[in-house]
Amino acid sequence: MRDGAKHSEAEAIIGSGLRPEEREAINIAAEASIAYREGLPSAPARPTVSLDEAVARVRTGLSEHGQPADDVIRQMVTDTDGALHQMAAPTFFGYVLGSSHPVGVAADMLVSAWGQNVGSSFETPAMTGMERAVCDWVLDLLGLPDDFGAGIGTGATLANTTGMAAARHALLEREGWDVEANGLFGAPEVNVLIGDGAHSAPFAGLRYIGFGANRVTRVAADEQGCIRPEAFEAALVGIEGPVLAVLQAGQINSGGFDPFHEIIPMLREKPNTWAHVDGAFGLWQAAVPGMRDRLAGYDLADSWAVDLHKWLNAPFDAGMVICRDRAPLVASMSARGAYLPELTDHWEPTDSTFELSRRARGVPSYAILRMLGKSGVREMIARHCDLACRLADQLSAEPGLQIMNKVVGSQVAIRCGSGADAEGYTNDVLSRVQARERVYPTHGVWHADGRAIIRASIIGYSMYEPDVDLLAEEIISAWREIR
Ligand SMILES: *Cc1c(COP(=O)(O)O)cnc(C)c1O
Repeated sequence: MRDGAKHSEAEAIIGSGLRPEEREAINIAAEASIAYREGLPSAPARPTVSLDEAVARVRTGLSEHGQPADDVIRQMVTDTDGALHQMAAPTFFGYVLGSSHPVGVAADMLVSAWGQNVGSSFETPAMTGMERAVCDWVLDLLGLPDDFGAGIGTGATLANTTGMAAARHALLEREGWDVEANGLFGAPEVNVLIGDGAHSAPFAGLRYIGFGANRVTRVAADEQGCIRPEAFEAALVGIEGPVLAVLQAGQINSGGFDPFHEIIPMLREKPNTWAHVDGAFGLWQAAVPGMRDRLAGYDLADSWAVDLHKWLNAPFDAGMVICRDRAPLVASMSARGAYLPELTDHWEPTDSTFELSRRARGVPSYAILRMLGKSGVREMIARHCDLACRLADQLSAEPGLQIMNKVVGSQVAIRCGSGADAEGYTNDVLSRVQARERVYPTHGVWHADGRAIIRASIIGYSMYEPDVDLLAEEIISAWREIR
């Protein structure tokens, strides 16, 4: 067959690695990325295009014959105009989201370009080295020993799941049960204690590992969503058999920490226990020497989940599981688990994570950590905590606005007005603030009583005083409009 067009296309690629339009596509993507990020400070804080319109623009029929690569990328840039949420901007105070640090974005582009499937250290030596370095550096920053096990997955939901899967392995092994071989049918029962102020993510993890989300003892929490030690003590009374305690560093509304130094020693009075800490964002405060005592006793736990895409500002998605004893972590995640002698000095990127085929998800964090250094990480976290206090001070000086939480980290929980109208006022202020499109905080539900709050989360790498002052100004002026 002689097909002139196909023939010359093949010629264009032979020996060059890239067709001209592919090279152009990559260039356009880089240029558009730069233009997007440079435009962030002045862009409306939320999408200006409706969901329906945004979807209709891109959810077209699939063409029969395709399109040149550069046209595809150019069109994607046009189609998303006005339909992106400015989550990477210092105007975004919603949920608890990092802002995709530019050096991480640049590294992430390389990760895609390199196309490494980081399933085996033998095949992907450079990626393995960088991910290993991220594990070493994060352990060091968090003040945990360098021989602890660690792995990089998609985020704290799976990092919590991974840590609890390691717990399941270890707790049952000590009861003489091999859960990896025999599963849970007929296994000894594992008691699970979890705080009443816990995030939904560990409940998802409990479901994924077959423990069930409701088959747990919920331990009463205080106003700030932190476990009450006396309730924890009471929950332990009469418990027989293995116990998994799921604790938290960084409550979603308050930023508060469970009193690890009190409750972990209580837990240890039982013969077979595991303490897991969901530290999705809050565990990062352990990196700041002056703040570490707010988390006192966090280092007594057996496993931890911590996000890289939250406070470290890695691009989505990346999170880390840490395990005091590496053996149950690897045994629960890796098919190599059965050959534990190999474990001592050999590290595989996949031996502590769910995925087999996986991108080098830790590499953007490698770039961010190299750029910031230890002092840069500490400065960023301390700055955010100072900014949270600054915001709380400004808002509480305004009559009628209340700060619901003790500000111990990056979170500020705001309630507008009091009495029967406060629920409506709070929701109204939030929608007015969002509609003005200058800043974007989101709603929350105050754990203690289900009341609405406005929650401001201050963890974006590029947030400084003017950003927080603007947020305060916007909330105060919306409040004055309706008060
Ligand atoms: C965000 C968060 C999670 C879930 O983390 P993902 O990275 O979204 O999977 C779990 N726990 C807490 C406390 C969180 O803030």
